[in-house]
Amino acid sequence: MNLDPVLLEILVCPDCKGSLTVDEDNDELVCNSCGLIYPVRDDIPIMLIDEARRPEGRPDPEPTDDQEPPAQQ
Ligand SMILES: [Zn+2]
Repeated sequence: MNLDPVLLEILVCPDCKGSLTVDEDNDELVCNSCGLIYPVRDDIPIMLIDEARRPEGRPDPEPTDDQEPPAQQ
């Protein structure tokens, strides 16, 4: 990831206007205030609340084992 430091200085969280921390490992920007995580695609931060994910409340919950017993006669 190769983000422009000048760009990073002017970027703020669109939700709470908080400052952002670069997560180099995951190509993401993390809001220091509200914790929203914004993706970076092709070195371009996607500063959209709709695109952001929250640190808690996973969008993809693990599938539950709903094993239904075979119908008994
Ligand atoms: Zn925020």
